[in-house]
Amino acid sequence: MTDYDVVVVGGGHAGAEAACAAARRGASTLLLTQNLETIGLMSCNPAIGGIAKGTLVREVDALGGIMGRATDRASIQFRMLNRSKGPAVWSPRSQCDRALYRRAVRALLEQHEGIHFSQGMVARLVLHSGRVKGIETSAGERILARAVVLTTGTFLRGQIHMGLEAGIPAGRAGEPPSVQLAQELVDYGLTIGRFKTGTPPRIDGRTANLDQLQVQHGESPGGEFSFYEHAEQLPQLPCYLTWAGQEVKDIIQRHLHSSALYGGAISGKGPRYCPSVEDKIVKFPDAERHQVFLEPEGLATREMYVNGLSTSLPAAVQLEFLRAVPGLESVSMTRAGYAIEYDYVPPRQLTPTLEVKSISGLFLAGQINGTTGYEEAASQGLIAGLNAAAVSRGLDPVVLGRADAMMGVLIDDLITKGVDEPYRMFTSRVEYRLLLRQDNAMRRLAPVAHRHGMLTPREVEISSRRRDSEDRVYELAMASAIRPEIVNGLLRAAGTNEISEPTRIAELARRPGVGLIELFDCAEISVEEGFAAWADIEFKYGGYISRENVRAEKMMALDGYSLPTDLPYNEMKSISYEGREKLQAVRPASLGMAGRIPGVSPSDVQSLFSETLRRRRLAEDVSRETDEGSTAKS
Ligand code: FAD
Repeated sequence: MTDYDVVVVGGGHAGAEAACAAARRGASTLLLTQNLETIGLMSCNPAIGGIAKGTLVREVDALGGIMGRATDRASIQFRMLNRSKGPAVWSPRSQCDRALYRRAVRALLEQHEGIHFSQGMVARLVLHSGRVKGIETSAGERILARAVVLTTGTFLRGQIHMGLEAGIPAGRAGEPPSVQLAQELVDYGLTIGRFKTGTPPRIDGRTANLDQLQVQHGESPGGEFSFYEHAEQLPQLPCYLTWAGQEVKDIIQRHLHSSALYGGAISGKGPRYCPSVEDKIVKFPDAERHQVFLEPEGLATREMYVNGLSTSLPAAVQLEFLRAVPGLESVSMTRAGYAIEYDYVPPRQLTPTLEVKSISGLFLAGQINGTTGYEEAASQGLIAGLNAAAVSRGLDPVVLGRADAMMGVLIDDLITKGVDEPYRMFTSRVEYRLLLRQDNAMRRLAPVAHRHGMLTPREVEISSRRRDSEDRVYELAMASAIRPEIVNGLLRAAGTNEISEPTRIAELARRPGVGLIELFDCAEISVEEGFAAWADIEFKYGGYISRENVRAEKMMALDGYSLPTDLPYNEMKSISYEGREKLQAVRPASLGMAGRIPGVSPSDVQSLFSETLRRRRLAEDVSRETDEGSTAKS
């Protein structure tokens, strides 16, 4: 007898999405986590989205996830980054009220009747013949399930470091690490690696001289992440910009030997793109100063997050350098920053559905897979949850390709290339940037979500209404012409040639700097601004988009050529030695994936294609001969 279809271990960003996704696919789901109060807790900065990450959140939302909705309920400052550049590269980001975000995640999860909650520490998995059958808690409780999703974040053998004192065992400040489960994973034969990350100190905002600093307001009115839900806008708060200059550099240089990072207490590799302040000062000695953002932690508190000063120096040194930052001369530090080292599972041990190759029914998602960031964790959680439900309920797996979604790129990178430092999403990792935008996430993914039963009827209706509205704007622009005397002022202001005869709005919208909405305004045609972005981008970048589509189709053809999991790569002598070794280690799911494995050359892929064709033909010949033999006998 099984207790649940799916057990999700961990209530962070991966765990919350995994539970939600599994429940949306009809799985009876248990979210089991160390402390129910910390469901949806942001371990580090209280912000969601940003470049590339904003697109991930929109994708999670389009697929029925909760991160976008929770962010909208907790947003205290919204900004669309890159607004000065074209709309194709815009990226939403929200500063959140940390406490409200947590509450919103819990409330959104509780909307699903299929999700059950339990508090406990998972100590081991219940395994039988290479399959997971459930979990066992440290209190000895056994819970059986058809699939298990582990989303244990930074908790596996986590150790916090501040200065040179011995590391404190912890999964996060004040929370115990997950030691037994980490050891069990090794015993199950999984390879384990060690990474590190860090967080900056927090300050009491009442003790900062904020009026001396540059203020950064959000947009008014603020935008939203979710396509499906509208949240009332909360009071908006500003951030403040200041700088760590020479005095801070001198203090840190003087105490570098007592940094956990530089004094040798930490060996794990950290995220290159979220460096500690020690790293910045050692690696960029010529930089005169480093940006520091003071970000509000919430509406009900004056505590602030000091973005840019992540550190593992002793607390006393942290206070000393904080007070050397302009505006913070007499600041009180409420919490010291720290570094944390933890185990992760190198993700080449996973399939495209995030299932562990060697243990059926076991899925991993989030920081445990060597990534960093809430949005990266949420994306993986969603895919793992959907597929855990698929395994437990006999449904189709859900795999998104590199041309379908940014989260498809993320997962493909993890399982084909692996990670040698904490993996963070960047637009530069994406081949088809014009296809995978934040504004079109719903157009791309709502049909997938609908097909796999992940949306409610209301959400299906919202997504199709949005698509229809966007299509109507496009068609209206194709069908409406605008006269020179009406539009030439706008064209002149945009620095582009005037027209001498009526011209279609769609034609004029192709010009850089000429916005589709402004053209409609000129022509006194009313359209809803929220539905115009898609058509505007299609007009402006249509040529590039078509070219990307052609390239994407070629890649999809290679990705559609599946490879059996038991191919004897070592016997394929036409493939280079390195290629064979890498293919053997990864066992790619498709020819496309094979070509993306570092060390597998284009000629290796060609040879692999020929080898698989030859083997298929051989297999067909054998089965034909067997059939003929049996026909002759009968
Ligand atoms: P988490 O959010 O860590 O959640 C893990 C969950 O698993 C928790 O609920 C925990 O209680 C539960 N759990 C663990 N073990 C067990 C068990 N055995 N049984 C039951 N429950 C268990 N990201 C950035 O992008 N930039 C940064 O600068 C940054 N700095 C960070 C600094 C620190 C100190 C930390 C801790 C994290 C930082 N991160 C940063 C990472 C970011 O917080 C994570 O990427 C994100 O939270 C990962 O989400 P997750 O769901 O994988 O794990």
